Amino acid sequence: MNIDNKIRDIRSLSPEELTAEIAALGEKPFRAKQLFQWMHEKLADGFDEMTNLPKGLREKLRETYDYTHLEAVERKISALDGTEKYLFRLSDGNVIESVLMRYHHGNSVCISSQAGCRMGCRFCASTIGGLTRNLLPSEMLDQIYQIQKITGERVSNVVVMGTGEPLDNYENLLRFLRLLTGEHGLHISQRNVTVSTCGIVEKIRALAEEELQITLALSLHASSQEKRRQLMPVANRYELSDVLDACRYYFDRTGRRITFEYSLVGGVNDTAQDAKELAGLIGGMNCHVNLIPVNPVKERNFVQPDRGAVLAFQRKLEQYGVNATIRREMGRDIAGACGQLWKGYIEAGSDRST
Ligand code: SAH
Repeated sequence: MNIDNKIRDIRSLSPEELTAEIAALGEKPFRAKQLFQWMHEKLADGFDEMTNLPKGLREKLRETYDYTHLEAVERKISALDGTEKYLFRLSDGNVIESVLMRYHHGNSVCISSQAGCRMGCRFCASTIGGLTRNLLPSEMLDQIYQIQKITGERVSNVVVMGTGEPLDNYENLLRFLRLLTGEHGLHISQRNVTVSTCGIVEKIRALAEEELQITLALSLHASSQEKRRQLMPVANRYELSDVLDACRYYFDRTGRRITFEYSLVGGVNDTAQDAKELAGLIGGMNCHVNLIPVNPVKERNFVQPDRGAVLAFQRKLEQYGVNATIRREMGRDIAGACGQLWKGYIEAGSDRST
């Protein structure tokens, strides 16, 4: 985010920054409070809705700032489990994807952190067209705000696991996390927020030093440097041992148990030997493994192992004392997984009616 954007994008400002901006406009501090409340608690879609602000001030704000407001262009609801998929249009016309999942413990929203992605993971649909741009903090927030407004239901958990590599958009991510979990906005508990990364070592370490209580999910997907390189180009930049050291550091600084994500690909990383090596790699760490049978992507010829192989892999890990669960597949009937809805939309031409 450059400096111009930072000033103009009012919905990404911290309460302190907003107070300073409002003072510079010659307004009283309580106006900053009202404005913050409209933006992050009442979830207004624009200055016009802010009826307790004088008209003159609203006009001044409109002239001075941009107001991020995402437009839902598609909403699909799963008949199987109530999962909802959304496509949102950004003000520059780019389209991003978000997902609402309903669990017993509450509603969880999976948000995108970038339009596109430049990490190039071989099995992932979201990276095929490369990176378009970083999302602003306000654009990450408004995915949650809009879903809360559309459904009328409270969101209690947020996972940054949609399109994009959050640690490749680090400054905006941090700002987003502070606004999301700060006491004056939705005030979502840090413990209910997960950030998933392909493993950008220096940024994992930087995040650890923020000492937030969020969960770090590390996309591991392989039990050796060699195999990981075949699936994830980012592994050419970072040694697996350095990635794992950074995860240990994250735990040391935050006390938060690490989640390792492991997408199981038939014939690639799903053998008993792989499970053994994986256990050897992370055994003894305070962690948890989330097994994800790979979602087939049309452009790639990766296949899911059969159910028996997935269960066997989990059992093997547990035999070695590594805690592992298999991710429940949500929204199978609505092109649920990883960038599928977005890809379908782009391929069909974005002018099609919904
Ligand atoms: N850039 C972040 C967030 C990406 S998506 C990261 O790499 O962690 C969240 C998870 O879904 C990651 O673990 C990612 O590797 C995984 N994923 C992406 N495409 C997938 C697919 N087709 N099948 C299974 N998992 C996939």
